[in-house]
Amino acid sequence: MTVFQKIIDGEIPARIVYEDEHCLAFHDVSPQAPVHVLLIPRKPVVSLDELTEQDTQLSGHLLTMVPRIAEMLGLTDGYRTVINTGGHGGQTVFHLHIHIMGGRPLAWPPG
Ligand code: AMP
Repeated sequence: MTVFQKIIDGEIPARIVYEDEHCLAFHDVSPQAPVHVLLIPRKPVVSLDELTEQDTQLSGHLLTMVPRIAEMLGLTDGYRTVINTGGHGGQTVFHLHIHIMGGRPLAWPPG
């Protein structure tokens, strides 16, 4: 079981900023920017690679929630969204998540 599943199940605490029946957003425990939140589906999708046609509505919901959560977080000057996938993508938690980062100008491209 992943650490994010434990957060969904309420087994470990998280600083939740938004939740509904399909998804959950909470502060990253190791923030890489002044604001660093993770948005995850409640459904245990391992990564982008595991999404199927059946997840089209869920994927759209997650993406649609990003600007709303960014607004809640006060990210009026823009923000960065990142989805790391697999080993070379730098994924370390194998439950799909969208990083929402902001609060300062962010460099591009990443390393
Ligand atoms: P990734 O490397 O894209 O898989 O991102 C995983 C992210 O999860 C990292 O930024 C970690 O800091 C974060 N993380 C790991 N454990 C926790 C936790 N218990 N609560 C919040 N964020 C976590």
